[in-house]
Amino acid sequence: MKLIYLDHSATTPVHPEVLEAMKPYFSDRFGNASSLHQAGRIARDAVESARQKIADYLKCEPKEVIFTSGGTESDNLALFGTARANRSKGTHIITSKIEHHAVLNTCNQLEKDGFEITYLPVDKDGIVIIDEFKKAIKPQTILISIMHANNETGVVQPIEQIGKIAREHKIIFHTDAVQTMGKLKIELDKLPVDLLSFSGHKIYGPKGIGGLFIRKGTKIIPTQFGGHHEFKRRAGTENVPGIVGLAKAMEITHTNLESENKRLSALRDRLETGLIQKIEDIQVNGSRFKRLPNLLNISFNYVEGEGIILNLDSYGICVSSGSACTSESLEPSHVLSAMGLTPEIAHCSVRFSLGKDNTESDIDFTMECMVKVIKKLREMSPLYRKKS
Ligand code: PLP
Repeated sequence: MKLIYLDHSATTPVHPEVLEAMKPYFSDRFGNASSLHQAGRIARDAVESARQKIADYLKCEPKEVIFTSGGTESDNLALFGTARANRSKGTHIITSKIEHHAVLNTCNQLEKDGFEITYLPVDKDGIVIIDEFKKAIKPQTILISIMHANNETGVVQPIEQIGKIAREHKIIFHTDAVQTMGKLKIELDKLPVDLLSFSGHKIYGPKGIGGLFIRKGTKIIPTQFGGHHEFKRRAGTENVPGIVGLAKAMEITHTNLESENKRLSALRDRLETGLIQKIEDIQVNGSRFKRLPNLLNISFNYVEGEGIILNLDSYGICVSSGSACTSESLEPSHVLSAMGLTPEIAHCSVRFSLGKDNTESDIDFTMECMVKVIKKLREMSPLYRKKS
């Protein structure tokens, strides 16, 4: 059975060219980038040329790019690091109700450490309400963390506007760009953000590698201590193969960005239109206009998202409900709940996230299977039977 993978927001396959670029750093070029001898120098050159390449794509200085173990660590470093470093100025932080748990659970921890957190609401389209944001700013606000695009709905947040307001108030602004890297143009010479998190495995790079952009002059202290790695901001021997792979993945996604976005949004729209035409009682969640090109979140009323996932899996189709990290939880998605969806409708949601290997025939097969799966599950649903 052919695998039809439609869960690229959870993770992506490593691109064959990324794997090839990494291979030598697992074998002949195995050195520690901190060693002075030639093996070390080869590894150091690889790390620094990857940093330069990434800085060029992001239009920032190489010294502003710190390698981490992924998006979660980048978010932790951004939030803990700036909150602790700026505590003498104030203890108030603003974030939103729809952030990834890498931000939300870090904020919960900061609350235990005495920080006050404002969790901004979103509107029914899943977009942070700017007026509420402006009202939340206080003289003691030291940090704002709003994601670039949401991982469940794909809805893109107005980060240019938020960053501009943050600058006017001289407040540090962090954005989690894990879902937008390689999909939206990120030009840090223009974008008013001070910290930006990204991750390798969402862009056809390996797992366990990511980065944090830290704008020059941003006051931050490390969260991990040891040697003097990464400009004394993140201790630990560098993951050289991972760093090489991350840079290659950035190269590939940046080179293909426009053509791939065009192709993916056409496929996504084909899926969306087809499902709306073929299946009744469904609703698309999140703005259909300010959305990542590859993502579609739909609630299929009267059936559980988990039931849909398992049934699609039997046809070789991989999708998810909620985010992968919360899919073991029985709670309705915090993102869809924040958008005003009832727990019943939130539980009926499925996320389709498309990627480089998906074709029109994958989409058409998925549509065909969805019609069968929803029909079968609704026939078993007492709520649906009561309605009809
Ligand atoms: N932030 C967002 C928006 C994400 O979607 C994810 C992963 O799903 C993360 C952070 C965590 O990234 P990582 O898996 O690299 O730790």
